[in-house]
Amino acid sequence: MTIKAVSVDISIGGAQLLKDISLDVVPGEVLALVGPNGAGKSTFLSALAGDLVLSRGQVFYNKYDISKLSIQERSFYRSVMSQSQPMVFDFSVRNIVEMGWLHQGHGFYNAHFSMATQQVIEQCNITSLVERRFNTLSGGEQKRVHFARALLQLWLPEGSKECRYLLLDEPLANLDIAHELSMLNVIKQSASSGIGVLIVLHDLNLAAKFADKIALFDQGKIVRLGSPEQVLTEDSLSTVYGVPVTVAQTPLTISYY
Ligand code: ADP
Ligand code: MG
Repeated sequence: MTIKAVSVDISIGGAQLLKDISLDVVPGEVLALVGPNGAGKSTFLSALAGDLVLSRGQVFYNKYDISKLSIQERSFYRSVMSQSQPMVFDFSVRNIVEMGWLHQGHGFYNAHFSMATQQVIEQCNITSLVERRFNTLSGGEQKRVHFARALLQLWLPEGSKECRYLLLDEPLANLDIAHELSMLNVIKQSASSGIGVLIVLHDLNLAAKFADKIALFDQGKIVRLGSPEQVLTEDSLSTVYGVPVTVAQTPLTISYY
């Protein structure tokens, strides 16, 4: 059971944004995408989410070709936190979190709605924000609310065998160090409970510490894929980012100034 991308190309308006990308998101693992601005990380995440038409290749969720799944079916397999998600309407924080609940109208699940919502509100440290208007929150506070919504979308009763996936595009942007650590811990816990996590990160040291696997993107391609030690090398990072990078082992530490 995986999310599986096979030989994915994406071209938009004559520009090839992704070239021959094959990658698996595995239940229980945190896979980090790193690479320079414009490398294609967000484009790839949108392709995995099923939000972009592929020019070539396929994406599967647990063996189902996503081009054959409806939006609702896709929503049961994966939740997505995009890089920016502005809200045009004046929703409350509680409204936004509750948008993640997919089980409306299912009697069995409805009995769990309040408990599950309360649980993610506490996990994401947004108890003091729930009655606020979303558009009045700071950037970091908005991220925590979207994260709570994405978690609620994946909620299943204890013991459920369904494989589900969390696709996060720079979720740590704008977070202070305490909330950054807290969100990373919730992400780790989600992976331990069997969720497959794909996360776009800019901080290479956080990627080294928290990811099980890393894919290094450059110019629409994966240039390295493997464990943090295999991917985060002085050679690969200096070449891809174009600045001198030094790497120390145990603990793996990346320095660039
Ligand atoms: P990253 O997330 O790694 O910073 P993106 O996936 O957002 O990079 O973008 C990859 C490249 O594709 C960038 O050069 C970006 O400008 C370009 N791009 C993204 N979306 C479009 C689009 N809809 N049309 C044309 N070019 C795009
Ligand atoms: Mg991006």
